[in-house]
Amino acid sequence: MSNFNQYTMQDPRSQYPKAQGKSDDRQPEPGLDAILKPQADHGEESYCGANRLSGRKALITGGDSGIGRAVAIAFAREGAAVAINYLPSEEIDGQKTLNMIQQTGQKAIAIPGDITDEAFCKTLVQQTVEELGSIDILVNNAGKQQFVEELENLTTAQFTQTYATNVFAMFWITKAAVPYMPPGASIINTTSIQSYQPSPGLLDYASTKGAITAFTKSLAKMLIKKGIRVNAVAPGPVWTPLQQSGGQPDEKLQHFGGKVPIGRAGQPAEVAPAFVFLASQESSYITAEVIGVTGGAHLP
Ligand code: NAD
Ligand code: MG
Repeated sequence: MSNFNQYTMQDPRSQYPKAQGKSDDRQPEPGLDAILKPQADHGEESYCGANRLSGRKALITGGDSGIGRAVAIAFAREGAAVAINYLPSEEIDGQKTLNMIQQTGQKAIAIPGDITDEAFCKTLVQQTVEELGSIDILVNNAGKQQFVEELENLTTAQFTQTYATNVFAMFWITKAAVPYMPPGASIINTTSIQSYQPSPGLLDYASTKGAITAFTKSLAKMLIKKGIRVNAVAPGPVWTPLQQSGGQPDEKLQHFGGKVPIGRAGQPAEVAPAFVFLASQESSYITAEVIGVTGGAHLP
C-alpha cells in the first residue's frame, strides 16, 4: 500500500496526471487492461477498506478491468465475497482481478462468458448463488461502446449488439438474480454522463445509457416492495480499456477528460467509492437515484 489512501486530502486537479492515449495506442475490442497505456489506477495501492460490506456477497459484470475491477477490489477490501464476469478473451485481466480479491482473504470467483446470451445470464446467476449462497449486491457494469461518426456507417449489427450488452443483459441478469436477493440487498447499474449529455458518434451507446437510467428508476420502484434498493452511477470520462478500443475517436482520446472542470480524466479508483456507498447500508434511504462521478460535468 502507498502512503496515501482514498481519505487523504489533496488537490483533485493534480491527484492524477492527465491520462491520454496516443492514436497508435489503439487496441481491438474488448480492450485489455494488460496493454492499456498509460496504465489505470484501480486503487490497488490506495483503497483502504473499513468493513462497510462485511459478509456481503457481490456479483459484478465487467469485473475484470476498468471501473469493474476497481469496484471488485474495493468491495473485497470492505469485506465482501466477490464473483466477477467478463468475456473469455479477457482472462488475463480477470485473473489479475481475482488475485487481488484473494489477497484480501475474501472468496473470489470468476465466471467468464458472454452476457448477450440470455441462457448464459441465467447460468451466471445460478453459479454465483451455488458458490456464494446469495446475491446481496448486483453490479450491472459490463458495457459496449464503439464510436461511429456518421449515421450511415452505424450498422444494425452494432446497434443490436450494443443494446444486447448494455440493456438486455441487465434485464436478463437482474431478473434471474432478484429471487436470490434478500431485503437490504442493493442493485447498482453503471449508466453514464452520456445518458444526459449524449455525444454525436455515440448514438447507440448514449441511448442505451438513457435506457439504463430509466430502467434503474423504474426497477427501484418495483423492487422496494422486496426491500431491495436500485441505484446507478453515472461516470464521466474515466481512463479504461473501453476508451482505447473504439470508444473514442483519436482526437478525443488524445485530450480525454480535458474538457471537464477538474481538467483531467478520472481513474477507476475514483469511481469505486460511489459503488461502495450505494452497496452499503449507509445509503439506506437512497433508491431510484443516480450518482454522477463526472469531474464536474454534472448531471442535470
Ligand atoms: P472496461 O472495458 O474495463 O469494462 C467493460 C467490460 O464490459 C469489459 O471488461 C467486459 O468484461 C465487459 N463486456 C463487454 N461486452 C461483454 C459481453 N458481451 N459479455 C460479457 N462482458 C462484456 O471499461 P469501463 O470503462 O470500466 O466500463 C465499465 C462500465 O462503465 C461500462 O458500462 C461503461 O459503459 C461505463 N462507463 C464508462 C465510462 C468511461 O469513461 N470509461 C464512462 C461512463 C460509463
Ligand atoms: Mg475488460
